[in-house]
Amino acid sequence: MPEVKFVDLGRQYLGLRDEILAAFDKVSRTGTYVLGEEVEQFEAAFAAYCGVRHAISMGNGSDALFLPLLSLGIGPGDEVITAPNSFVASAWVIARTGARIVFADVGDDMNLAPEAVARAITPRTKAILVVHLTGRIARMEELARLAAAHRIPIIEDAAQAVGARRHGARAGSFGHCAGFSLHPLKNLHVHGDGGICVTNDDSLATHLRQYRNHGLANRNDCLFWGINTRLDTIQAAIALLKLPRLDSWNARHRAIAAHYRAELAGVVQVPTEESFEEPIYHRFMVRCDQRDALRDHLQRLGVATAINYPVPLHLQPAARDLGYGPGAFPVAEKLARTILSLPIFPELRDEEVEQVVAGVKSFIP
Ligand SMILES: *Cc1c(COP(=O)(O)O)cnc(C)c1O
Repeated sequence: MPEVKFVDLGRQYLGLRDEILAAFDKVSRTGTYVLGEEVEQFEAAFAAYCGVRHAISMGNGSDALFLPLLSLGIGPGDEVITAPNSFVASAWVIARTGARIVFADVGDDMNLAPEAVARAITPRTKAILVVHLTGRIARMEELARLAAAHRIPIIEDAAQAVGARRHGARAGSFGHCAGFSLHPLKNLHVHGDGGICVTNDDSLATHLRQYRNHGLANRNDCLFWGINTRLDTIQAAIALLKLPRLDSWNARHRAIAAHYRAELAGVVQVPTEESFEEPIYHRFMVRCDQRDALRDHLQRLGVATAINYPVPLHLQPAARDLGYGPGAFPVAEKLARTILSLPIFPELRDEEVEQVVAGVKSFIP
């Protein structure tokens, strides 16, 4: 049996090779390698895609969360609530502002449970960073009501959720602003690091545009001390040619997910989906009490898997000072012990999907 890779970025590249090489050639000839016209074009196209007014590209997805926190004035003495079962960037962007990370447990959808967030709110809470894990949008109606009642902005960590919908609205259109990642492992990716922030807030958009570019209003006028985190023109050109394909790629993710769900329900716990949801399955995570044995079994059959993520954020060495211990967030901790991500990417072939299905079905706990 051939190996089934967890992801194979080369396949997407080969399908777009002529266009990507042409884009590289075009950008290289103009010589505008930073903040070139493709950057503006991609930002406009991305904002329209998400159904928001502004999109501001950045050097990576983490900065697309970090800069909005800074722009909103969050810093020492403040608290920001987020989920403990996420990539580490969901936490450090808060800590690096000087604010305190406050975790709240998640629900069966693996996203922040509004009840838990309600209990975590204090007078110092200045924002809620809502992660849409695996490309499934969190329970935004309840979270938005809670945030509005306390006059706290929501920042969506939509790094994994580009194109996902809930009641028809795209990820990124629910919060005050949202950050997306264009990292190679994300559904819409460039050939390196990249990120983009979206918002309907005009003044926040202007501030972010300056912030990512040294705090410059123009070539010579520095309004405040910013940083340098911009999307390269060549990366914007690649993102621009990929964006029109994103919906069909996400549809392929959803078709693979539907097949996995139909075939594997009862063998392992599969993610559910409500009629009003359209997750994009950045990851397809099953749950299994004998997760490590299942993973070994699949490995022997040549099926690569991943665990996203094995250590909850509150139990990371970096979180020591926050004072959380084991048992603080039982749902997130149980997920960390039982989740397994199966291969899923648009170019995954039907026979490979069947090989994954057969592998999981042949597991005897
Ligand atoms: C990937 C990711 C990020 C960070 O994005 P980068 O582009 O790698 O900086 C943040 N949050 C989540 C949930 C992610 O998956």
